[in-house]
Order: sequence, then structure tokens, then C-alpha cells
Amino acid sequence: MKTVRITQIDGALPNVALMRLAHWHKARGDRVNITRHIERDLFEPDGYDVVYGSCIFSFSAGRLDRFMKQWPNAIVGGTGTGSGATIEQLIGDYHFYDYEGYDDFTASIGFTQRGCRMKCKFCVVPQKEGKNRSVGTIADIWRGDPYPKHIHLLDNDFFGQPNYSDVVDEIREGDFKVCFSQGINTRLITDDAAAALATIKYSDTKFSRRRLYTAWDNLKDEKVFFTGVERLAKAGIPPTNLMAYMLIGFDPLENWDRIWHRFKKMVALGIDPYPMVYNEKRVDLKCFQRWVITRTYKRTPWDEYRRETKSEESTAAYMRTKELEPA
Ligand code: SF4
Repeated sequence: MKTVRITQIDGALPNVALMRLAHWHKARGDRVNITRHIERDLFEPDGYDVVYGSCIFSFSAGRLDRFMKQWPNAIVGGTGTGSGATIEQLIGDYHFYDYEGYDDFTASIGFTQRGCRMKCKFCVVPQKEGKNRSVGTIADIWRGDPYPKHIHLLDNDFFGQPNYSDVVDEIREGDFKVCFSQGINTRLITDDAAAALATIKYSDTKFSRRRLYTAWDNLKDEKVFFTGVERLAKAGIPPTNLMAYMLIGFDPLENWDRIWHRFKKMVALGIDPYPMVYNEKRVDLKCFQRWVITRTYKRTPWDEYRRETKSEESTAAYMRTKELEPA
């Protein structure tokens, strides 16, 4: 029997790679400590046979450093580490999940597909997951009674899988609510896919309201993005049900006029924008992000927000608490 420490360094959602790892070790009779603490706490064993850490955000670099100092022999992975290690290298395609440590999370989480049809320059999915393929059903993911029929899908390109209509049928016939938190690809949505989507209960991450997540990351995609938005609307999914991630700080041609154009166009249509800052050290963009996602833009104009709330200073202070020095 091995003694194993599994550490989730960041991320609010359950970490499915670590959940698989925990299940795999427990199935072998190992003693597993699942924790979000970086430093060893008082009641932990003196030594572990294996320590794992997962870090998914680059802005957690400070936490990752502290973790590596505390556990220098740890095996780390995740998109925030720069490590190319994958969970499959450790445990193959073992796909059972252990939910210990996530008591407040009552939904069931997983994938019906992996991979993506697109190749966005800033994204690791095509390189890590390859071509789009189906990997499971809703029945594989749902934990069964007494858990609610809430499925949190981590699929990056749900409608790219060849048999998406079978999965949609399974969702509808089983009366599941599904959250597509990674977003559906509006640029590639077809009339058939939009119509299928409109027949199911799509939801936000809290399973409390109708919400679809999508993305408009680059100004040059304006036409194709809004063609997809129109297709969704025609099928019965209004723009007000959409939250669109908008990547900022990546495109070398980007300037504030271009950012405002995307932001204002979405707001005018009723789409909820969610800026994602590529360079986490850009205080001005982090400040804009905060102004948008707290919906402060609905009551306080941007100039006033920056001037009167000293928001950049407070954003910078907040970043320091996250161990991230502003540029
Ligand atoms: S569409 Fe999404 S998942 Fe696919 S490559 Fe682009 S950002 Fe990545």
C-alpha cells in the first residue's frame, strides 16, 4: 500500500484528472490524501510515497512555486505548469472518478468528447487532445440517484463529435440539465446543431438558469460569430441566454477601439461578455475584466470607474494577494 498526496493547486471546479488519479490509487488499496493545501498540515503523515499536484492557470505560478518548494519530488501537470505530462501517461484510459473532497458539488462531471475541430493559436486543446472524437455517454457520467440529473460537461467542442445527436437525444430523453461550461463553438454551429440544442435544458454552472457559454475571441471572426448567434436565435436560443468569453491581450493588432467594438456589440444584443485576459500581468485589462464581470459597467461608466474608484490600484493590490506582480 502506498501513501499518496493529491493536491489541487487552483481551479474552483472539481479537477477531473485528479479525481481519476484518486480513484485509480484507491482501487489499488493506496491511502490517498486529497487536498487543496499547498503546505503540509499538522495532521498529515511525515512522508508520502507519491505526491501529485495539478495547476491549470498560469496566474497560479506563485502557488506552484510554493508547492514545488514544499514537495520537490512531486509529479505536476496541468495547463498552468508548462509540463507536457498527461494523466493518461500515468493511468492509461482509466476513467472512473472519485468525488471525495467535493462535497458541495452535487452535479456529475465529465466528457462526452475530446479534441476540437479548430486550431486557435492561444489554445492547447488541439495539441493535447487532438482530433474530435466521442469518449463517453451521459449515462457514463451521471452518478445516479440520489444525485440530481445535472451534468457538467467539460467538452471543448461538443458539436464536433460525429454522434452528437445521440448524446442530445440521451440528454433530452433522460431529462438531464447540462452545463457546457467550456463553451459551444458558435462559429461552427449549424442549423441542425442549433435546433438540437434548443430541445434540451442547457444551464449555467449553478444549474439555476438557462445559459450557454460561447466565445468571440478575435475581431476577425465577427461575421461568422454573429451568423452563429443568428442561427441560435432562429432555433429559439436568444442572445440574452448567451455568455461569451472574449479573449483580450492576445491579438497583436488589438487596441482599445477593437476591444470596445466587441464589448459594445455584444452588450447591445443582450449577450453577456466575459473578458479573459491573456497576459495576466496587464493591470488595465484585468481592471476592465473586473468592471465587466461584476456588471459594474451597467451603472458606472468606465472612465469614472477608473478615476474615482482607483480601480487599477485596487486591481494591482488584488493581484499581489494572488502572488502575481503587475507589469
Ligand atoms: S475552439 Fe476553443 S477548444 Fe477549440 S482550439 Fe479554439 S479555443 Fe481551443
